[in-house]
Amino acid sequence: MADEMDDTHHVELERLRVRVAELEQLESENLQIQQTLFEQKAILELIANGVDLREVLTGLLQRVEVATPGIRCSILLLDRKGTHLRLGAAPSLPAEFNRAIDNLEVGPENGCCGAAVYFNRLIVIANTATSSLCAGFTHYIEKFHLGACWSSPIYGKDNKIIGTFATYYEAPTVPSDDELNRIERVTHLAAIAIERKQAEDALRQSEEKYRCLIEAIPQLVWTTEARGAANFVNQHWLDFTGQTLEQFSNTGWLDVVHPEDRPATYETWTKAVNSGQLYEVEYRLRRRNGIYRWFLARGVPVKNEQDQITGWMGTCTDINDQKELDDLKNLFVSIASHELKTPLTVISGYTQNLLRTLTQQGEQSFDEKLVHKFDRSLSRIAVQTDNSLALINQLLDFSRMQSNKLEVNCQENTNLVELVQQVVEQQAHLVTDHKLQTQINLDKAIGNYDKSRLEQVLSNLINNAVKYSPAQTTITVGMAQQEADVVVWVRDYGCGISLENQAHIFDSFYRERTNQNYSVEGLGLGLYISHEIIEQHNGRMWVESQPNQGSTFYFALPVTVPAFVS
Ligand code: ADP
Repeated sequence: MADEMDDTHHVELERLRVRVAELEQLESENLQIQQTLFEQKAILELIANGVDLREVLTGLLQRVEVATPGIRCSILLLDRKGTHLRLGAAPSLPAEFNRAIDNLEVGPENGCCGAAVYFNRLIVIANTATSSLCAGFTHYIEKFHLGACWSSPIYGKDNKIIGTFATYYEAPTVPSDDELNRIERVTHLAAIAIERKQAEDALRQSEEKYRCLIEAIPQLVWTTEARGAANFVNQHWLDFTGQTLEQFSNTGWLDVVHPEDRPATYETWTKAVNSGQLYEVEYRLRRRNGIYRWFLARGVPVKNEQDQITGWMGTCTDINDQKELDDLKNLFVSIASHELKTPLTVISGYTQNLLRTLTQQGEQSFDEKLVHKFDRSLSRIAVQTDNSLALINQLLDFSRMQSNKLEVNCQENTNLVELVQQVVEQQAHLVTDHKLQTQINLDKAIGNYDKSRLEQVLSNLINNAVKYSPAQTTITVGMAQQEADVVVWVRDYGCGISLENQAHIFDSFYRERTNQNYSVEGLGLGLYISHEIIEQHNGRMWVESQPNQGSTFYFALPVTVPAFVS
């Protein structure tokens, strides 16, 4: 009975002993966790406070060394090329040894750290005296009593090695599980610190780059907050306007915008800020000497990942010289054209008079040969005068287009069929070397059209067809209804236009230079102006062409009354 009692006590005692051991183990683990958390908190605080990387790493290693007396640690940082390790921190290792391992080359036999990077894994040298990896460091190993060394790579994002963490012991030894855990903890914290520093460096470099760029470009550069309050401008603005940054801020910049341009500028800016659309406006800015210059201001919204506008960024480009040049050019074209037009109109009038007189009275007054000669010469003068007048008119139209003043005066109920037929009749007298034919199966196409402008377009197309196709070939003027539009076309069998050049054919002063048309006169403005006239009618103009086969120019105009097919 007593024996039985003894056994039960014994079992119970054993159970309690196991339980106590378990609790002790738990408490120790708990303590370790607390210690780890405390360590991590301290290091993360250092990192968050932007403390220098060397200081953070030193702090980390000092904590590790205090927690395990007798060990000495180092952190080396891998350079950009991944070939050498630079000293990051090693608070307790002798300076002489630190100098020796600074700039250590990565390699299979280059010490514990060089090998850890080379083999991409933890290297444990349990006894440095017998390891071939330490052959180059025997002097230091003996001098500083470095009996064992373990080194682990520190991994950054994408598992890229960014450094090494090494632990040195006086006596030969291998790591326990706890020590392996410690290595993992320390490399993790070191990685956070190193990457943060690298990110900060990258950001600083990028900011520096943009700062240099902003000051290097000749433009005035500005930024604003999301709601449009200006908050930064580069030195060029301050130098140009003489404003201080405070004077410029918020809406202060408007003070140096010309009073006449201010309301429109403010309105455009407010609209852009409210809509989040691109901001673009031209205004005059007052220079510090009181003289205004024209600028083109452009701004774009800056957005965050949620697509919300966080601010605006923009530039002001000095366009004063360009603007003055444009104004001067337009003034020149307009004055020159008017001055040239008047005498030519007079010459044209007198020539027509002479031609008429010659036809009526010539036969009685002169001999036949002389009449023929006069008639030919006068006819040439008349054609050349008309050509010159047409060119001058093109220049005038161009100059109007530059100042947005090419207007069309549409009249309601204009019959396009009649108009096209009239132009073809007029042109038939002039187109003598080609066969001009029509393909019109409509009676009426009624719309709001500017008759003289559309005559100008069609004459231009027929003239081009004549100019750019060989004599005796056919030129067709056609017309058809296409849904709500009426389409007019002029087809020729001439030199045609390459696909590449078709893209530019409606640009101003564009002329295709080929052997065939090299000597053909023209300014390259006819199609540009025609295109604008058709657009002002809310129509479209386009071309279909094959080199050496011919071209068909089309324009489509809206009709108010559906076209009648005859
Ligand atoms: P231009 O006064 O030079 O004829 P346009 O604006 O009327 O000016 O035409 C621009 C250019 O387009 C011409 O120089 C010519 O190269 C090309 N072009 C226009 N019409 C035709 C056509 N029917 N066939 C071939 N090329 C043409």
